[in-house]
Amino acid sequence: MKIDVLTLFPEMFDSPLSASLLKKAIDNYILEISFTNIRDFSTNKHHKVDDYPYGGGKGLVIKPEPVVLAYESIEKKLNSKTIFLSPGGKVLNQEKLEELSKFDHLILLCGHYEGIDQRAIDLVVDEEISIGDYILTGGEIPALVLIDGVSRYLEGVVGSKESVMEDSLSNGLLKHPQYTNPRNFRDKEVPEILLNGHHKNIKEWRKEQSYIRTRINRPDLWRKYLKKKKEEK
Ligand code: SAM
Repeated sequence: MKIDVLTLFPEMFDSPLSASLLKKAIDNYILEISFTNIRDFSTNKHHKVDDYPYGGGKGLVIKPEPVVLAYESIEKKLNSKTIFLSPGGKVLNQEKLEELSKFDHLILLCGHYEGIDQRAIDLVVDEEISIGDYILTGGEIPALVLIDGVSRYLEGVVGSKESVMEDSLSNGLLKHPQYTNPRNFRDKEVPEILLNGHHKNIKEWRKEQSYIRTRINRPDLWRKYLKKKKEEK
């Protein structure tokens, strides 16, 4: 998959993309990520990219010209989608990550300061995505969240495809707790049921734990799950 990021701060991506599975995905040519610095497309001799908002108000807004020019400089693949990371978008979830992983090319537009002139958004963006109901300083960390989440669906990034499908939220539920060695840690034992090798019982126990966790921690997901089950009957 090719990902192009439009940003004023490409250096914010350096460290997260140079470790662990994302680094491996890039080294193995599964993921190709390029950065376009919006400031390089400023038409202002001082490379200014922002200005005061029309109508008044605090903060600065990113001007439309450098954003649209930066966008136009990118060579688009046929199956591509342009996303603006924005607290005003639909909140990202697991289903959306899987859907986005099917595109050959994602173009991620990161806002900063008070955001981007609406006309640039209207001209280039296909979809607005938020990573949650809180405000961050810029779209760079949200873009990294999206890149990380999408890349887990690409063949060869995570060891086994099953482990991706068994993760929390893939079936609409939270995952059961996990344990490894040692069997006793500071007087806390691994649950007995996981030690006896009875696969059917282990599967049942894990399912029950997943139900309990979801019901307690995420009643919203639990209600959704029950509704879906009812509709399937
Ligand atoms: N004034 C804007 C508003 O009230 O919607 C907030 C601007 S925010 C400080 C600057 C940029 O950070 C946004 O343009 C967006 O790209 C990014 N951003 C902030 N919070 C975000 C979130 N929860 N999800 C995605 N992007 C976010």
